[in-house]
Amino acid sequence: MTRAVESFVEGRWLAGHGGLRPIRSAITGTVIAEAGHDGLDFSAMRRFARMQGGPALRRMTFHERARMLKTLADALLAQKESLYDLSAHTGATRADSWIDIEGGAGTFLAYASKGRRELPNATLLLDGAPEPIGRGGGFVAQHILSPRQGVSVQINAYNFPVWGMLEKLAQTLLAGVPAIVKPATATAQVAEAAMRILAASGALPAGSVQFVSGDIGDLLDHLDGQDSVLFTGSAETAARLWAHPTIAREAVRFNAERDSLNACILGPDAAPGTIEHDLFLAEVVKEMTVKAGQKCTAIRRILVPAGWMDAVADSLAGRLKGLVPSDPRASDCRLGALVNASQRDSVRAAVGRLTGAAEICWHDPQAQARVDAHFPAGGFMAPVLLRTDQPWSAREAHEVEPFGPVATIMPYRDVEDAAALAREGKGSLVMSVFTNDRDATAQLLEDAAAYHGRILIQDRHGARDSTGHGSPLPSLVHGGPGRAGGGEEMGGLRGVVHHMQRSAVQGSPAMLSGLLGQQMPGAPVSDPGVHPFRLRFGEIEPGASFLSDLRIVTLADIEHFAHFTGDTFYAHMDEEAARASPIFGGRVAHGYLILSFAAGLFVDPAPGPVLANYGLENLRFVKPLKPGDSMRARLTAHSKSLRSETMGEVRWSVLVSNQADETVASYELLTMNSV
Ligand code: NAP
Repeated sequence: MTRAVESFVEGRWLAGHGGLRPIRSAITGTVIAEAGHDGLDFSAMRRFARMQGGPALRRMTFHERARMLKTLADALLAQKESLYDLSAHTGATRADSWIDIEGGAGTFLAYASKGRRELPNATLLLDGAPEPIGRGGGFVAQHILSPRQGVSVQINAYNFPVWGMLEKLAQTLLAGVPAIVKPATATAQVAEAAMRILAASGALPAGSVQFVSGDIGDLLDHLDGQDSVLFTGSAETAARLWAHPTIAREAVRFNAERDSLNACILGPDAAPGTIEHDLFLAEVVKEMTVKAGQKCTAIRRILVPAGWMDAVADSLAGRLKGLVPSDPRASDCRLGALVNASQRDSVRAAVGRLTGAAEICWHDPQAQARVDAHFPAGGFMAPVLLRTDQPWSAREAHEVEPFGPVATIMPYRDVEDAAALAREGKGSLVMSVFTNDRDATAQLLEDAAAYHGRILIQDRHGARDSTGHGSPLPSLVHGGPGRAGGGEEMGGLRGVVHHMQRSAVQGSPAMLSGLLGQQMPGAPVSDPGVHPFRLRFGEIEPGASFLSDLRIVTLADIEHFAHFTGDTFYAHMDEEAARASPIFGGRVAHGYLILSFAAGLFVDPAPGPVLANYGLENLRFVKPLKPGDSMRARLTAHSKSLRSETMGEVRWSVLVSNQADETVASYELLTMNSV
């Protein structure tokens, strides 16, 4: 029986009525599911997200949202086999599905870990350092980031139904913004199964994620400037959505990840027989065949030094020979099917257009005939390698995206020519260069980096650990300029910040310190009545301060420190040389001595809430300390962030000054405190 892909609306799964579109198996061509839903109330869905999902997420701290992502990823991984079973009928091999399913869960885990490590346990994010504004130090500003209060409408492409959904949701949910997800119809049954696991986990607050089977009706008409649209798919659809009148009128944020004619360049040094040459051949074949070439990042244009065109074409053909499409359910299948027969027909049509400018130099019609005979209604396609020797007149090779196992080889004259050809893609997600030649690579970066969202430089030294041309990573920016859509996703916390509003908050240092939980420059310090190291994590307020006594630093101290540590640098030990120095004008105390004495001045030694010192940040030595000078330290609680149930990080600002109250050194000390 045909399954209906349901919508998840206002916390309930709803079966579709009317407007149903068939979803066909990539293998057999039979209809395996239907998606669509006439009559959904999109205005109510948006309201539910904004009234329920948004507030619930915003009440959670970044750490709580990060823990939620971890719970969701664990739930997906526990039930992954059910997703693999469905995924096979999208044409994906086990390895292709691994990228989609475990890569998707891995993206949630990566953001869960980043959220705990790199974000505070708070609901607002401070952006950059405070900006002193008033001349008298009585007025400061701080940029903050707060979650946008709308809904993120996420329209996904068909090729990675799980990863494509999760890579967007990871950033949105961590930012504290609810989403309405619309999967591509061709693989909506897989996205729905993943969404059911998320919804059943109990970790998602009501309204934080809703799911639309079928099209999005009038949803875009209801959006305003707090909402956003994140689109992944073809340039044509992106252009249509971008031109939607509400998006322009209401300044709705629109992020597009579109198609891309990614280039792979064989370096001028990477002659046949070199390691880089072999790495290049392997990568091109991998990119043509993983996911049957249905990757937005796949290599479409292969740029080769003109003299090696024949050699490269022969080598690639030799390697492609063994790669014939077969049933993706078989464990030894290395090349699965396109998502359905209609996608295969569009790729064939794209190849038809490309042959106006290029000739086919490898395709195995017998392999194609064999698989067609076996699966007459499936989406199987044997790889097609094209070649043009006139890359500047072969316009189609730079314009037509065959979203399947197809790529075109073309020659370049020199590195400038290669960069110019790469730029002919008019903006791509990724460019790779296989070379051990740093000068050539520097030229390529200078000439073509601005046209690419990511650049892979592959040499023999990085080969073992390389993640390859076609893999977007949670910590790296995914997106590209121009034709690639001009959007940007992931990139670690950059992707989270896209869902937040930056505001500059101005006020008195005291007001801003209290509001933002961070001691601002110029804010008054307070005496907590006990040494601040005696305060438990929860008792520490920004501004709680301790001022040490003065201590004289003698020449004997400096010499003792030098011999004890072995640091006998001339500035501390050689009076004549130190006097001749343009900086010191005589012997001075070691910076590390100043730090050590400062610790001796401010530390409260008995066991207590401070468990450990685990680092210093932003250390500056401002003025040298000469023998006979005195120093004292002021320790002030700056900010704090809970790290676990039992411990939290406290950031202290330390100011070391001399007997004339001039700043000698400043830094931030991090301690781990018990709660
Ligand atoms: P598509 O046909 O443009 O569809 C993309 C999404 O848009 C689908 O969910 C589709 O829904 C929806 N859609 C289509 N018309 C719409 C409309 N009028 N209003 C609202 N939504 C609409 O692309 P695709 O065939 O799924 O994906 C393949 C393309 O995506 C390739 O060109 C590939 O390069 C690109 N892609 C880019 C990236 C990237 O990160 N840059 C990643 C993956 C894929 P239905 O399926 O229900 O029609």
